[in-house]
Amino acid sequence: MKDVKGFVSFVGAGPGDLGLITEKGSSCLRDADVVLFDRLANPRLLRVTKENCQLIYCGKLPDRHVMRQEKINETIIELALMGKRVVRLKGGDPAVFGRVGEEAEALQKQGIDYDIVPGVTSSIAAASYAGIPVTHRDHSASITLRTGHSSQKNSVENHNRYEHGDTIAYYMGVKNLGHHCQELLENGFSPETQVAVIEWATTGKQRTVEGTLPTIASKVAINRIENPAMTIIGDVVGLRKKLKWFEKKKMFGKRVLIAKASSGESKLERYFLDQGAVTYAYPTLKQRNKLISSEWLKRLQSVEKMVFFSPESVHILFEAFFSEGYDIRELPRSIFCLSEKTKRVLKKAGIRSEKITEPTVDMIRIGYGKNKEPIVKDANLLVTHTLDFDPRFTEIDQRLLEEELWETVIFPSKSSVDWFLDALILHGVKLKKEIGFAYIGESVKEYAKSKGFQHTNEEIQQELEAGKWKSS
Ligand code: SAH
Repeated sequence: MKDVKGFVSFVGAGPGDLGLITEKGSSCLRDADVVLFDRLANPRLLRVTKENCQLIYCGKLPDRHVMRQEKINETIIELALMGKRVVRLKGGDPAVFGRVGEEAEALQKQGIDYDIVPGVTSSIAAASYAGIPVTHRDHSASITLRTGHSSQKNSVENHNRYEHGDTIAYYMGVKNLGHHCQELLENGFSPETQVAVIEWATTGKQRTVEGTLPTIASKVAINRIENPAMTIIGDVVGLRKKLKWFEKKKMFGKRVLIAKASSGESKLERYFLDQGAVTYAYPTLKQRNKLISSEWLKRLQSVEKMVFFSPESVHILFEAFFSEGYDIRELPRSIFCLSEKTKRVLKKAGIRSEKITEPTVDMIRIGYGKNKEPIVKDANLLVTHTLDFDPRFTEIDQRLLEEELWETVIFPSKSSVDWFLDALILHGVKLKKEIGFAYIGESVKEYAKSKGFQHTNEEIQQELEAGKWKSS
């Protein structure tokens, strides 16, 4: 008999920076039928999942439990017994204060197979992104990871001074920080001992506060540091003065929303994230490819001019055209496009194209449809795909749009302006008055302004015009 039991992967999502998930973790996400994810796992990671992969948010909000632990265990078991590939995505590493022990034990009792894919834990990541190496030949030969939650097991009184590493990292410790520092002082730590508290580490909103055991708690309070925050204690903290790097990035702390008009990866998002900004490509769209008929492919041979509306249309059409056995020389002689991005994609395929703003009537248009609008029957329009909002991301998009204090919206194309307007309505979000805009190209700027996006953010506009993002 075929074993119908599914499989569960506990995957470490890393501390926040999108790039800090492992290759193996990403591949589990790509294969998953369902993902249960926590608040601290970056939801942007979920974009690699299959279109029909179910996404379940079971994150705990600071003071409200969204899904109780028992319920999480039950759900995982239920889904696995239905034969699904389940991913339990957890912030940082699943085994470091991540309850993987309890969840795996529940599976083991049911005879369900699982694996555990480690992740970059937030203590080490937070320290590194703050310019603090957790060990150092001259300053620290060991590190202790502790939970700042008060519990019997955790009280310093139950340990002696030498049970601690030279560096101590406290998870979940902001609330009890003063208490922990006091305990360490009472247990013989020097009042000169250096401490750093790092909030939202590895993301563009990282904030680091430094002090010593007697001073840090009040500094943290004054700066209103909240969870998630990591406390690092020990001499290594002093190295930050020399070694700090992430917070020096050019766009560090800027909050840049990228308006999107495709389901693919956004180069702009990657660029601004790499430069240290808080960035999100919005909204999350899904693409459905259409089957291209042989009649259409045949017809293209006798056509003089065609214009591509999007880079995706280039990929889809060429894929169909070449797999039917046609040759590049059988494409229309004159090829046009509506954006720089499409031009680049065509160039990569060895095709020179001309960018125009409006197609003329003698051109065959290779376009796409928006799902909610009926596709008009038009003898000169070939629709390669449709785009629509990904309903699985409605809440995530909404949450990210509302939680972050966005300063600038970038419009890469005219269609991104239209999608953005529709998305704001769908998610019921209003933009703040002070928000600025930046545009790629004059025609996009004019179009966005005509839709009410008037106020240019000069700094981001200049960054776009410098063009470095194109090679990211
Ligand atoms: N399994 C996770 C830890 C879960 S406990 C890991 O390996 O990192 C949750 C605590 O982790 C938070 O209260 C905070 O102390 C810490 N944490 C997680 N992500 C963080 C981040 N980006 N910046 C600072 N601290 C973080």
